[in-house]
Amino acid sequence: MPGEDIRFDPWWWEAAPPVPQAEAPLPATADVAIVGAGFTGLSAALTAARAGRRVAVLEAGEPGSGASTRNGGMAGSGHKAAYGQLSRRYGKKAALDFLGVGIAALEFTAGLIEREGIECHFTRSGRFRAAWRPAHYETMARETDLLAREIGLEAEMVPRAEQGREVATDVYHGGCLYPRHGSLHPALFHRGLLDRAEGAGARVFARSPVTGMRRDGNRLILRTPRGTLAASDVIIATNGYTGGITPGLRRRVIPIPSFIIATEELPAERIRALIPGGRMIVDTRAAHCYYRASPDGRRLLFGGRAALHPIDLRLGAKRLHALMSGIFPQMAGVAVTHSWTGFVAYTRDRLPHLGKLDGVHYALGYSGSGVAMAPYLGHKAALKALGSDEGRTPLDDARFAAFPLYTGRPWFLPLANLWFRAMDAFGY
Ligand SMILES: Cc1cc2nc3c(=O)[nH]c(=O)nc-3n(C[C@H](O)[C@H](O)[C@H](O)COP(=O)(O)OP(=O)(O)OC[C@H]3O[C@@H](n4cnc5c(N)ncnc54)[C@H](O)[C@@H]3O)c2cc1C
Repeated sequence: MPGEDIRFDPWWWEAAPPVPQAEAPLPATADVAIVGAGFTGLSAALTAARAGRRVAVLEAGEPGSGASTRNGGMAGSGHKAAYGQLSRRYGKKAALDFLGVGIAALEFTAGLIEREGIECHFTRSGRFRAAWRPAHYETMARETDLLAREIGLEAEMVPRAEQGREVATDVYHGGCLYPRHGSLHPALFHRGLLDRAEGAGARVFARSPVTGMRRDGNRLILRTPRGTLAASDVIIATNGYTGGITPGLRRRVIPIPSFIIATEELPAERIRALIPGGRMIVDTRAAHCYYRASPDGRRLLFGGRAALHPIDLRLGAKRLHALMSGIFPQMAGVAVTHSWTGFVAYTRDRLPHLGKLDGVHYALGYSGSGVAMAPYLGHKAALKALGSDEGRTPLDDARFAAFPLYTGRPWFLPLANLWFRAMDAFGY
């Protein structure tokens, strides 16, 4: 239940709120212009600035006002796309290569945090993926076995009889433990990335929404309410906030809100009793739940699809509280102090995509799994803009398909919401 003085900002912002940036005049030119100052944009900025390019990052709000400071802080090696779906669509080898990108992304982001000395409570906490149905457990066991053999994925199946060591509930049918997955404080990670990108010479311009873009010879001209900027290369890093300046990309990603709550502070032993191993927990429902202890171990942070379209955050808190109490009846009387939301970007094949479309580079479409992937693909997109072959990943071979008949207004999401809930209730 929402507490009396519930707040509608991310709990993460208590430690690291987005810092209002001073309004500096826009430069007339840059080598690389980046649209969006989340993990993708800042990681791209860091790589391009370290390579000696003049970099300008244009951000509609304050840096970090998008999903990058709002997420659950779960750093995984997976995509939303499962092996089975990918191999049916692309064949076995390509599917394995795409999943290998997830492992590379996790190692890249862990290495980045270490190399740059970013203090953001990063640990290899491990993740437990909990099966909502017995059939989900069986599929996971088969795929885990294959992925361990083929791409060296580290994972261990935990049968239902033993799941109590990971999560104190019997609503699940066992699950899979990924010991190398990590956790971090996303707002501190974002702040560290911003600091390192600026330290490398990138300039970040807040409250500078790009409202138009056109080609002029070999340069692109970006229009903002604060003036125009001409750049040799542009990287679009707008993910769930992708808008009308890139209509081709907007037709390829559907923005979907994800919602999270933070509970009131509780004794650490009480939280520990819920998640004894300190893992990140994600379940396999179509409208899935994900939850974890806060880095200080005093709160439960509980996220999920309270709806597939924007709703009032007090209602979001009520729905998530009900879902949390369904898993942990012992939490039914606990108050919610924070309720917030942010947009993720789903693609047709649930894979992230990077490449070049209509003359601009892009990296987006993380489908809800961008904490490790977005910094990695931002880095890769910058390498592409620098003309380096090292920007290549197997994802270059994945077709980035548009959604049929979709131009950017997801009117169908409330219906999809009902469909997902029916699937979870009646099984699939
Ligand atoms: C509630 C929630 C929980 C999540 N939990 C997890 C998790 O636990 N693990 C995980 O892996 N992933 C999670 N995610 C997903 C993850 O947060 C995202 O994939 C990742 O942050 C994407 O980073 P980004 O930099 O690409 O986009 P964002 O951080 O969203 O940044 C995009 C930026 O582009 C800016 N922008 C858009 N249009 C323009 C324009 N025209 N001009 C200028 N600026 C513009 C926006 O203002 C925004 O700041 C979660 C997301 C949400 C919302």
